[in-house]
Amino acid sequence: MNKPYTVKKGVDRAPLSLTDSINHMRRSLRQIKTGLYWLSIRPDRRRCLNMTESELAQFALRPDGGSTALDKALSDAAAHVPYYRRALDGRPLPLEAWPILTKAIIRANESDLLAENQDRRFWFANFSGGSTGQPLRVIQDKRFKVWNWVTENYFYREFLGVDPHTTPRVTLWGSRHEVYGARRSWIKRLRLSLANSDVLNAYKMTAEDLARFLECINRRKPEVIKGYTSSLYEMARYVRDGNRRVWHPKVIYSTAETLLPEVRRFIEEVFCAPVRQLYGSREVGAMAGECPKGCFHVFSFMNHIEVVDMEGRPARPGTTGRILVTQVRNAAMPLVRYEIGDMAVVAEGTCPCGNPLPTVAGIEGRYSDYFVSPQGALVYGGYLRQVMFTTLWIREYQITQTALDKLDIYFVCDTEPIPRDMADIEKRVRYAMGDSCRIEWHRVEEVPRTPHGKLLHTRSLVHPNPTELYRVKP
Ligand SMILES: [Zn+2]
Repeated sequence: MNKPYTVKKGVDRAPLSLTDSINHMRRSLRQIKTGLYWLSIRPDRRRCLNMTESELAQFALRPDGGSTALDKALSDAAAHVPYYRRALDGRPLPLEAWPILTKAIIRANESDLLAENQDRRFWFANFSGGSTGQPLRVIQDKRFKVWNWVTENYFYREFLGVDPHTTPRVTLWGSRHEVYGARRSWIKRLRLSLANSDVLNAYKMTAEDLARFLECINRRKPEVIKGYTSSLYEMARYVRDGNRRVWHPKVIYSTAETLLPEVRRFIEEVFCAPVRQLYGSREVGAMAGECPKGCFHVFSFMNHIEVVDMEGRPARPGTTGRILVTQVRNAAMPLVRYEIGDMAVVAEGTCPCGNPLPTVAGIEGRYSDYFVSPQGALVYGGYLRQVMFTTLWIREYQITQTALDKLDIYFVCDTEPIPRDMADIEKRVRYAMGDSCRIEWHRVEEVPRTPHGKLLHTRSLVHPNPTELYRVKP
């Protein structure tokens, strides 16, 4: 029997207020923009992105920290990369038994580290490490690039709590190449605009630049402000020094440089928003991200991380050790147990945030961060940065150890230097480095950045090798 035809009665609605109408229009506009944003991504890239996202959704970690993706990366490397084939001699060794890969080994065996079975048409060269030594060249493939993108999206979603594609954001970026690249390509510019995103060139920040950046932040009203730690700090200082008004984002995303607790507090106070860090590098991409509970979760689906002591044994919980990275998603030149040059603190227990990825309690920065006193004691660069932090007339600085008993302090300031403060800094530096340490001050126009635009506040040219550091440890 047919149902009787019924007429759906309209619901009586109060007429929309002007504010409601404007909000409704804004929402529709946003939806159109989001649709256009997705259309601006090339169909093959969009497909690749969606496939990788669904692969990530199925990723499962075993209780031992391994995964089928890691197993596959290792068996592919053992079978198709001449360097590993030689080193393993055909034996299927567990990861802990693979040789450690240093920067020097990569430089000496560059072609032997390339996979023989891969399509080289989609390979790209990437460079890193120009600040403390020779630059390192690594080869990455198309799949690596997409996975790196997806990993950052995961960080946005899980740890920053925002949509990775269309959340309004302002980026203070220091890499000249990337900022200029984004400016040159009209499609990139269009995509940035559709994604409500601004990328500002923070390679060099003059007072005019800072005024322009602040105006951009206040106009864009971003939910996320992303940047190099030093750029964010510089911006925060500009706001605080001039007692200026700044938009408060939902979260600050800091990357690329060591973040001191004092600097974090200062940035959080000025922007009234929490800072979360992403730990990554050019050689291997994103490695770990900071969750709302302050723990670093390792992105095991992208990179597997081990923390080992100076002899190469697994470091104990609560202690600091060297980071070894194994790439899970770069078949072109898979780096296995790559000694990246950073230290991490092994976590004790699990993180209360509920995220299933493994954790490290903290990333402690580069070996070159450690200074060696004439008496052979190790001094963490963080101590020297703390000494400098309270001297507000110093706008930028870099402390370089050029000899066992000599430090050069390069600094930028807008007002005249205050001798009393300088004497105080020298006293506190000698407290750690010993009385025989000579300190030379150099007033400069600007402190040179690394080729990728990073500002290194401390660097030691004396013992950059961790094994040597270990030897001189008292
Ligand atoms: Zn957590």
